[in-house]
Amino acid sequence: MENVSHTLAGFALARGGLGKTTPLATTALVGGANLPDIDLAWSSFRSALVYDHYHRGWTHSILGFLVLTSLWWLTLLAVDRWLLSGRTADRTSPGSLLLAAALGIGSHILMDGAARGQWRGPLTANMGVALFVLYAGLCAASHHAAQARIARMATALPGGTSRQVATLPHPGDPLRWEWIIADASSVRHGVIGALPFFDLAGASGAVLARNLDAPAVEALLKTCAGEVVSEFFRFPFATIEEGPDGGRDVVVRDARYTRQGRGFAVYSARLGADGRPIINRDECP
Ligand SMILES: [Zn+2]
Repeated sequence: MENVSHTLAGFALARGGLGKTTPLATTALVGGANLPDIDLAWSSFRSALVYDHYHRGWTHSILGFLVLTSLWWLTLLAVDRWLLSGRTADRTSPGSLLLAAALGIGSHILMDGAARGQWRGPLTANMGVALFVLYAGLCAASHHAAQARIARMATALPGGTSRQVATLPHPGDPLRWEWIIADASSVRHGVIGALPFFDLAGASGAVLARNLDAPAVEALLKTCAGEVVSEFFRFPFATIEEGPDGGRDVVVRDARYTRQGRGFAVYSARLGADGRPIINRDECP
């Protein structure tokens, strides 16, 4: 999820009243709401594959929550003690500061989890509670309603029943959700309102062919690069495209993030004369 969203969640928690509990609480919430992405410091330089492998790793886990909350809390206590001592009228409460740090960091991990569609089944209740806090109830209700509509849509589709379904936030719009319904051969996607009333006119969705059984794609997925792609991409689909210099590339995208162009969550490899992808093993983690 974008850091703008995490920052807004931090400020929402602060404005909800938590920001007034102690000096530095707003800093603890807003800073904490972005802190798990500190993994960008060691995941974003070497190559796109290293990034996909390490980003959202342990810093987005329960262990990461405990470690980051402790370190962030100690940092804020140190800042309070050595930089701010005597400058504010209110006394800092270590307990409230710990709570703010934990809620900020917890909001990040929950929001990234919700964006990845991981909280399903029995965890839906937990997710509802988390979003109730983060979005003051409206967003949680909106999400549940959209999920039910998408589940009905998925069962109404012809063909097999083994489908993967995701309900993803639509940027800046708590009333509409992006949906993805995938089976072995296609990824359908579109935007749906929490209620039919909120549906956008003419938004019926689109279908992408996955092409995962094409020989070049199958060959790619067996390489070290393919392992990372399979691990990070939840809705992979592949195309064979002409590269800028006229050669042919096999391109795999994660439909959650990118459906065209080359940016985030895209992996491409040049196809050799034999039609097999050429992988630079140095890029693999
Ligand atoms: Zn994150």
